Amino acid sequence: MTTVVLFDIDGTLLLSDGAGRTAMEAALHAVFGTRGPAGYRYDGKTDPLIVRESMRHAGLDDATIEAGMAEVIARYLEGLSVALQDPARLARTLPGVPALVEAVHAADDLMLGLLTGNVVEGATRKLDAVGLAPARFVVGAFGSDHEHRPALAPVAQARAEARLGRSIPGDRFVIIGDTPADLTCGRGIGARAIGVATGGYRRAELEGYDAFALVDDLADTAAMLEVIRGA
Ligand SMILES: [Mg+2]
Repeated sequence: MTTVVLFDIDGTLLLSDGAGRTAMEAALHAVFGTRGPAGYRYDGKTDPLIVRESMRHAGLDDATIEAGMAEVIARYLEGLSVALQDPARLARTLPGVPALVEAVHAADDLMLGLLTGNVVEGATRKLDAVGLAPARFVVGAFGSDHEHRPALAPVAQARAEARLGRSIPGDRFVIIGDTPADLTCGRGIGARAIGVATGGYRRAELEGYDAFALVDDLADTAAMLEVIRGA
């Protein structure tokens, strides 16, 4: 039986040192004339949801937001490439990530994938920036597939099933992420969740969301493989 391991990106696999937010705020300002509220949290949200919610908070109506959405995302991607190449920024993988990604990729019983709020081109650029080969992640669901994170779990399931050519029960999906939204988004398909406290939430703040396991980081590859296989 194959277990499909779906990693979140920001705060889970890597930190982009503010490159994503800088690029998004510049894109929002260029299209809508406002960067959105400084206190609005991006983590756990899909890129299109960030656009919609932050611009609603800034007082824009949905029709206006919808009309500018594609241009914001296009400008965001241009700005993201520039921001990720800024030598003053320290985009980097989190502890243990390259080894764990390699181990999951190499394991016959595990399928390596992504479940992220990033639009697919943004995900690719961030992974490339820290030396994680995007092609290693053979199945993925992205913010460009759907604005609502829980809708991404069935997308990942359908793509994994298409790749294997057979059905895969929902409980054979393990979602690893750093926010409550990561821990709850797979409930609709019965996926297991593993919370990691390397993003904006401390371990204690990730309790109460029915995660299969919570870990401080992904540094211990052997221990993580055991947790994943036990899920
Ligand atoms: Mg995250």
